[in-house]
Amino acid sequence: MLTVEGLRSRYGRIEVLHGLDLHVDSGEIVTVVGANGAGKTTLLRCLSGVQPVSGGKITFRGEALTTVPAYKRLSRGLAQSPEGRQIFTNLSVEENLRLGAFLYSDARVEKDMEDAFQMFPILREKRNLAAGGLSGGQQQMLAMARALMGRPSCLLLDEPSMGLAPIIVQQIFDVVSGLKALGVTVLLVEQNAFGALKIADRGYVMETGQITMQGAAAELIADPRIREAYLGI
Ligand code: ATP
Repeated sequence: MLTVEGLRSRYGRIEVLHGLDLHVDSGEIVTVVGANGAGKTTLLRCLSGVQPVSGGKITFRGEALTTVPAYKRLSRGLAQSPEGRQIFTNLSVEENLRLGAFLYSDARVEKDMEDAFQMFPILREKRNLAAGGLSGGQQQMLAMARALMGRPSCLLLDEPSMGLAPIIVQQIFDVVSGLKALGVTVLLVEQNAFGALKIADRGYVMETGQITMQGAAAELIADPRIREAYLGI
């Protein structure tokens, strides 16, 4: 579904992605794990089109994506739930969700909103409140729900567990896991390697702008190098 070949990206003169290769097949949950600063966010920003690519190629559902502008990528089926959530704090929860559905004006928008409320019941309770008043975990739920309102076939998730209490992290990972049953393919970028690998089919390890290991998630969890470097075991 999504193929990345030789992807390079830079900030000014400094290259931070040095020729990445990865792929995500339809229906998979794939995670990219790696330490702070490895380049995970930059990778996702290249995929959603907000970060310039200086080399390589991105293909999505059989079509070249590399030069497609960011605002057109959602209509191709690719949505991002960004690092730091980036919700509209002055708007209500419901208004944030409606913005996620800006491409659509059909009756399915209401159904999608109902689905979002079923997925995250707390958002229904808070639907008329300003999003800025939500807790960190609730804001993360809203960011994910807003991305899903765009009806993506592939969801890019940037560090959904960041800064959240373990019980909320578990709740978020459970929802990500459940997206599979809804037919949404997921590329999940995480520093929480154990949590991410537990729900993923496959994983990539990223270090300083390069993929250094890849494999089935269960194999990566069992690998002594990963256990020592990323799982603290
Ligand atoms: P984090 O978990 O902290 O988000 P990450 O793996 O997502 O880390 P990136 O945020 O993609 O990593 O950063 C990769 C490298 O690019 C880092 O060395 C970072 O300092 C650098 N970098 C990120 N954003 C910028 C920017 N706007 N200008 C210059 N350098 C940047």
